[in-house]
Amino acid sequence: MAAVRVEQLVKRYGNVDALRGVGFEVDEGEVFALLGPNGAGKTTTVEILEGFRSRDGGRVEVLGYDPGEPATSRRLRERIGVVLQELAVEPLLTVRQVLSRNAGYYPRPRPVDEVLSLVGLGDKADERVKTLSGGQQRRLDLGLGIVGNPDLLFLDEPTTGFDPSARREAWGVIRALTGGGTTVILTTHYMDEAEALADRLAVVAAGRVVAEGTPESLGGRDVGEARISFRLPAGVAVSSLPVAPTGGSEGAVEIRTDKEVEVLAALTTWALGEKVDLGGLRVERMTLEDVYLRLTGHRAHGDGAPPAR
Ligand code: ATP
Repeated sequence: MAAVRVEQLVKRYGNVDALRGVGFEVDEGEVFALLGPNGAGKTTTVEILEGFRSRDGGRVEVLGYDPGEPATSRRLRERIGVVLQELAVEPLLTVRQVLSRNAGYYPRPRPVDEVLSLVGLGDKADERVKTLSGGQQRRLDLGLGIVGNPDLLFLDEPTTGFDPSARREAWGVIRALTGGGTTVILTTHYMDEAEALADRLAVVAAGRVVAEGTPESLGGRDVGEARISFRLPAGVAVSSLPVAPTGGSEGAVEIRTDKEVEVLAALTTWALGEKVDLGGLRVERMTLEDVYLRLTGHRAHGDGAPPAR
């Protein structure tokens, strides 16, 4: 059953067409990522779903409610959790106090001790918020997002600005949450994050969904040509290979093929028989980033720097 349904969603800001007919569905229990370059329309889409922005056209259903309907907005808010990039939290309260206070806003909150343990802040429960490190504050942000025991959780660029190990830790926390059945809508600029967390994703560009699918299949990257590459030891001629290379040089061989299983079988059987080492053997397909760049025609933020907002 769908937790979220979006059809032909339109939003204009003055003469800017921010959304021009966005559509997608998110199933219950699914982790769904929205990817796209700056200004593509991700935040606008998510804030319409959260009920924080109005729309100019289209149909939206979130947990069975229309988020643009004032009469039911409170009931919807009680069932969603939102984790923004920067949350204003009183620095002098302790972690437990902040979580307990927010728990009080919801009819069926998650026990605070359970939240502390899920986000890995059990040993910081009685510390003041201002003493937390940046990464620990983001864990608290996540905790605040889930303390209301939401059926649907929105995560806005949950690891922007994290160092690599903090990102891995945060992914672990998010997986633990989603393992419990919570539906998640995530916006991110990081391909590896979408790949690590999302069951399905949509690429948004210039106010439209330009592709949708699993991270493995997006843009058809699970089918089509693969690139096999390896190095031959000195003295072994390329002409002695059982399969003709399609590129590379004498030492570094490259073979592009859509029959990689057959080609690999021929190569490895030959190498074992001839006792030749295929140094650095790799089989690659288009990366998610390749597909993303092709779809959006933009440069991705692959340098690890947080994108400008
Ligand atoms: P980012 O990755 O930079 O966060 P985004 O995909 O979330 O971008 P949006 O913030 O939804 O993009 O913006 C979509 C378009 O709408 C952009 O052209 C933006 O300039 C415009 N826009 C967004 N909010 C407003 C606003 N309040 N008033 C006017 N224009 C806006």
